[in-house]
Amino acid sequence: MSEQGVFPSILTQPSTDDASRPFWEASVEGRLVAPRCTNCGTFRLPPPPICFVCQHRDVEWMELPGTGAVYSFTVVRHPLAKMLNESVPYAAGVIELDGTQGAGARMIANIVECNVETLRIGDRVEIVWEHVSDEMAVFRFRPIPA
Ligand SMILES: [Zn+2]
Repeated sequence: MSEQGVFPSILTQPSTDDASRPFWEASVEGRLVAPRCTNCGTFRLPPPPICFVCQHRDVEWMELPGTGAVYSFTVVRHPLAKMLNESVPYAAGVIELDGTQGAGARMIANIVECNVETLRIGDRVEIVWEHVSDEMAVFRFRPIPA
């Protein structure tokens, strides 16, 4: 099913690995978690096998509030694939996550339930989850009403 402003879920065949499994397990519970390096405190999202700052391997999974601010975004008006005909125009952006300031965790996501003509950098947003299977929920963000 497609609707204007919403990029369709294409993750119908969930595939997780050891590095990302805690993220997807939390997703089905509607919780946002992110791995933080136990050595230097840098968030690693999405999780690489080693820290890109200090090359340490171990992480601790931190629960985040699921809110943040629009760091950057674009509005897609031209459907690059037939499956997107009903979705355009939609906003895709980089979200700077609350609880990670100074340690850099940002997520790229579809920003839904917004007016793409008035969306602005710095707008406050919150995560919304769409359950696509028993093992995975897909994330999007929507503006927090002022
Ligand atoms: Zn590190």
